[in-house]
Amino acid sequence: MQADNIMEHFNLIVVGLGAMGAATLYQAAKQGAQVLGIDRFQPPHTQGSTHGETRMTRLAVGEGPQYVPLVKRSHEIWQALTEETGQPLLYLCGLYTTAPKGTGGAGHYGDFVDRVAEIAEAQNLPYERLTAAEVRQRHPAYNVPDSNDAILDPNGGVIDCEAAVQVQLQLAQQLGAKALFNTMVVDVVPESSGVQVKTAETTFTADQVVVAAGGWVRSFLPNRLHSHFCVTRQVIYWMEVDDPAPFAPEHFPAMIWPGLTDDEYLGVFPMLPNRTPGLKVQTEKRNLDSNPDTVDREVSEAELNEFVDVAMRDKVKGVKQKCLSAKVCLYTETPDHHFVVDHHPDSDRIIVVSPCSGHGFKHSAALGEGVAQWALNGQSQIDLSAFSW
Ligand SMILES: Cc1cc2nc3c(=O)[nH]c(=O)nc-3n(C[C@H](O)[C@H](O)[C@H](O)COP(=O)(O)OP(=O)(O)OC[C@H]3O[C@@H](n4cnc5c(N)ncnc54)[C@H](O)[C@@H]3O)c2cc1C
Repeated sequence: MQADNIMEHFNLIVVGLGAMGAATLYQAAKQGAQVLGIDRFQPPHTQGSTHGETRMTRLAVGEGPQYVPLVKRSHEIWQALTEETGQPLLYLCGLYTTAPKGTGGAGHYGDFVDRVAEIAEAQNLPYERLTAAEVRQRHPAYNVPDSNDAILDPNGGVIDCEAAVQVQLQLAQQLGAKALFNTMVVDVVPESSGVQVKTAETTFTADQVVVAAGGWVRSFLPNRLHSHFCVTRQVIYWMEVDDPAPFAPEHFPAMIWPGLTDDEYLGVFPMLPNRTPGLKVQTEKRNLDSNPDTVDREVSEAELNEFVDVAMRDKVKGVKQKCLSAKVCLYTETPDHHFVVDHHPDSDRIIVVSPCSGHGFKHSAALGEGVAQWALNGQSQIDLSAFSW
């Protein structure tokens, strides 16, 4: 290596500036650290896991009690960011979960309605268990059958995910962070005195590195850990509606609607003002491990038709069978669907923040804060120990 190729030294370099990396960069800059963020694209972009305008959030997190402090703190951070910048980020329109009675839904959603209620009870969070008829009465667009259970998290809703990334990157730079976009990190090399972060042109050095590379995380890990992560192609659809008014976040909660098979899963998002026309809906597919560089980004007529027949069916009234727009996005999941936020197996100077198994955005602001504290101060205020390898 040529000495003249070695650039500035930083307290912290963040590799990947999507949901997790943007939050980490912002929080580290807020702490006054000298920090550099590098991304191979210009976030927010449409190649990773953080596009499609909105992500659901809920305080009664059925995935487990370890997530509740993260989402609570994330809500506080987004609200503070909105106060500071005037940019709305969090829409607390409420969030329903409904699933066939006695099952809670297919796959890892098993007993999800009960698990949401248990978490809410244990954490003293408000919730309402509702019959299908009560859901239909309150929100006639939701055509929930009598064979389903339902629960409402009044503190749930949606986050404007791309604006959240944008705001955190802007504030980070205003606080002195450097950001390099359209620059790929080709290697991260730990040494006894620091870490080298190499791009095609330059080698940077840092005391600490956070790898938040989303669906590309495996390229920074030894082969033996690749099986910890599976990347799957997911499609988001925007369907034409008869009238947008009933779907505004002021009076339309989001919905998690698992079915008896994975393919029946439906997620429904309220329509934020001045966005992609149509009601945003999605299903989940977990059949193929994908490479983010080669995954098919086109959505075929056949898969749209399958989505309409199997996942949408007649679940939401006032929605036409016409798709106005569709985008491919990536889940990166661990086998148990939990997060990995831990040191790299080869170095205590590198923290890996996993892409968080398809349910990470709602926790990202607090994860960024905790990871920045951990990297810079050796410990985080929020407990991240549940997310070790
Ligand atoms: C369709 C869909 C729906 C979802 N719904 C929800 C939801 O409702 N609620 C929720 O909480 N979560 C949801 N999630 C999950 C959530 O969006 C993710 O957990 C989160 O966005 C992952 O963020 P990330 O920072 O890990 O990845 P990304 O945002 O993809 O960021 C990774 C970044 O790393 C960069 N990068 C990669 N390799 C390199 C390299 N070599 N050099 C430089 N940069 C690099 C990439 O360009 C990218 O910008 C959903 C995900 C999808 C796909």
